[in-house]
Amino acid sequence: MRLPETPEEIAPAPRAGDPPARAQVGARSPTPRSARAGARLADHDAASLAELLRRAGGTASAARAVAAKVVRHAFGADPGAPEPPWDAGALAALGVGAWAHEALLALDPAASLEVAERAPSADDTLRLVLRARDGALIESVLIPGPARTTLCVSSQVGCARACAFCETGRLGLARQLAAGEIVDQVRIARAIAAERGGAPLRNLVFMGMGEPFDNLGEVLKAIRLLTDPRAFRFAPSHVTVSTVGVADKIAPFFREARAELAVSLNAPDDARRQAIMPVNARFSMAALKEALARSLPPGRRVLFEYVLFDRYNDAPEDADLLAAYVAGLRCRVNVIPCNPGPDPALRPPSAERLDAFVARLSGHGVTTLVRRPRGRDVGGACGQLAGMARLRLPAPA
Ligand code: SF4
Repeated sequence: MRLPETPEEIAPAPRAGDPPARAQVGARSPTPRSARAGARLADHDAASLAELLRRAGGTASAARAVAAKVVRHAFGADPGAPEPPWDAGALAALGVGAWAHEALLALDPAASLEVAERAPSADDTLRLVLRARDGALIESVLIPGPARTTLCVSSQVGCARACAFCETGRLGLARQLAAGEIVDQVRIARAIAAERGGAPLRNLVFMGMGEPFDNLGEVLKAIRLLTDPRAFRFAPSHVTVSTVGVADKIAPFFREARAELAVSLNAPDDARRQAIMPVNARFSMAALKEALARSLPPGRRVLFEYVLFDRYNDAPEDADLLAAYVAGLRCRVNVIPCNPGPDPALRPPSAERLDAFVARLSGHGVTTLVRRPRGRDVGGACGQLAGMARLRLPAPA
């Protein structure tokens, strides 16, 4: 099944709460050039590579066999290993027939991103500003942990969803990222993590710039390559996609991906949620809950993220409302004291209010975790670093 790839396809008829239309977010097309042309190797997972080879004249089984070899060769090496060769000799050494060479060698194996800036934090978090070939800047954040390192991945250049607490939301949407640009964030970060030592990069969270469900086709393709045991070998249970609650994409996501789902809730009722998250005008909390209840596969659970803002959503009664909302869903709730963002009214709560909220929520029997934001000193809020870098860095010639 072909999934929608642009906000226009996702929401053909604009309604209240929809993201701004293309004309409002920049002159560039939101569809990535590479996604249209399919010109980069990393824009392909094994299935799309097999399809390309079938169109190049291979039988279905020969195309699948060659795609498997290519994926292993191009993406299966350990982090830090030299780039594998990509020429006719290398393909012949893999046992790939001459019939497939032209189609394969037309694909560019080079990275689609380069590191524009590294911002290490006092807590060992490393925020990376990455520049795409068209000059667009995105950010990824490496978060080392004792057992494994996590990478926070971006899915779009900017974002159209305009959440009040988010720096990226202020940028608007410039364009979608291609699957290869998502994969290349991981390739670059994996090499940097190996260089720095410490726990290996084994955990991916789509919580960087952008709303992943507004670029679901490319996100899913990237996840298939990243979790392919012949390629990057990430465990699907260690890949989490976070959405602001684009409810009509929840069923397609669970149909197509084995990754985990996180949903940003951030308020205990529609009025307050809508005031800080315009998506709620389109998909109410009830609609969101109904979509989750209908689509959550057996044995799976959803992670709700609840960013705590001082005296906005952190009262004990708000914990009661939140507990009532999540009742009946297999879930955990991640409570996150906010980073100071663009809205001066949304501030972090005191430690006492945080503790009281968590105790009240847990008291209702809700599995509750507290996540303390890391990397605050290098641009804490979502998308903040890329916003700053865009102001500082010269545009490439
Ligand atoms: S929080 Fe996420 S969905 Fe909302 S504006 Fe920021 S990047 Fe977009």
